[in-house]
Amino acid sequence: MANAPARVAHLQTPRQRLESVIQIARAHASEVDCENRFPAETFEALKRARLLGVMIPAQYGGDSLSLADIVDMCGALGQACASSAMIFAMHQIKVSSLVTHGTESAWHIDFMKRVAAEQLLLGSATTEGGIGGDLRSSICAIERDGAIFRLVKEANVISYGRQSDAILITARSHSGAASSDQVMAVVLRDQYALEKTIDWDTLGMRGTCSEGFRFTCEAPAEQIFPHPFAEIAAQSMLAMAHLMWGGVWFGIAADAVARAQAYLRAEARKRPGEKPPGAIRLAETVGVLQEMKSVIVSGISAYERAKLRDEELSSVGFSVAMNNVKVTTSQAAADIVRDVLLINGIYGYRNDSPYSVARHMRDALSAAIMINNDRILGNTSNLLLVSKFDTSLVA
Ligand SMILES: Cc1cc2nc3c(=O)[nH]c(=O)nc-3n(C[C@H](O)[C@H](O)[C@H](O)COP(=O)(O)OP(=O)(O)OC[C@H]3O[C@@H](n4cnc5c(N)ncnc54)[C@H](O)[C@@H]3O)c2cc1C
Repeated sequence: MANAPARVAHLQTPRQRLESVIQIARAHASEVDCENRFPAETFEALKRARLLGVMIPAQYGGDSLSLADIVDMCGALGQACASSAMIFAMHQIKVSSLVTHGTESAWHIDFMKRVAAEQLLLGSATTEGGIGGDLRSSICAIERDGAIFRLVKEANVISYGRQSDAILITARSHSGAASSDQVMAVVLRDQYALEKTIDWDTLGMRGTCSEGFRFTCEAPAEQIFPHPFAEIAAQSMLAMAHLMWGGVWFGIAADAVARAQAYLRAEARKRPGEKPPGAIRLAETVGVLQEMKSVIVSGISAYERAKLRDEELSSVGFSVAMNNVKVTTSQAAADIVRDVLLINGIYGYRNDSPYSVARHMRDALSAAIMINNDRILGNTSNLLLVSKFDTSLVA
């Protein structure tokens, strides 16, 4: 009988195990935001519920969870604490690189097993001083020395860098390589040093603690992914990032809409027989939320279909579709929260009201600059100059 709670937890699905984490994330969301601190309670709970390895194949100790289920978890957590949800999403995006591109290397397979068994938290260092958000360019370069490599990177933004157990970092493949000839490596906490160069005191997403660091490491060369980063970015990372981020932003928007509904119900109770003035706007906003959901759900289906055929995954149409998921969901989240602000009025604007969407607004505004929408639209426009866009209604 002593083992009963553990057995029950094991029988629960990952989504069921997330429920208690959501309560903890919600309880600490405001404090995390005000104090600009890592949501430690949420991540202790996620680890206890063994939710950091959910994407890892069961044969390596994970849950083999589908992308759709993980995006849903990002959305559910995003309704409680956007910073927690974004950290969870960023971690899962890093895991997706291991799951998709690490199965031909013994080191990466072993590492995947460790992530699942030890519930390791993975961070990301793609952004670099002098490059900005151009994921597909690096200035820094891998320096190989026999079986080891060294790397120094001006990593201007590494979310939860100080809390990560390992960081996945991009760099040019060698000192003579072109800026786009990149690799990605997994570097473990005891193999790197972080020297803080930039604080994280921002409008929103404050709990992500996305400080800047000079990153210096020395590690075995086998920790570099065997496939070029160009392949990793095109075949999994961009799509995963845009869909999981979309899930987080959907969560922010959905919680804002729930607060508008709660506000209007309270207003209606105060004045029976009178429809509150914001009710029509709520109906309109729920429609926009539904559109946002459709974009994410159809994006997930497009990714699942494309995964089955390499040429589809590398096609212009697929890249355009995934770019559009990012741009449209990031804009929709901010638009929805802004509309809720109009519905809830001063109660939405206040930080101390149950109908407040102040934190939601600040968090949602990060979406458009998290890889700047203008940069993404610039890439899409280049693709559209050389290709047709999809006008069919067949999935
Ligand atoms: C909450 C949050 C967490 C993050 N976490 C991480 C992390 O863990 N690891 C990490 O590596 N990075 C992280 N980032 C950084 C992010 O991925 C981007 O690299 C970063 O937001 C881009 O910053 P930027 O505006 O300086 O750069 P850029 O994208 O270079 O944009 C700079 C300016 O140039 C303009 N611009 C640039 N390119 C174009 C173009 N082609 N067309 C038109 N205009 C253009 C834009 O309008 C923008 O004003 C995070 C960002 C946020 C907001």
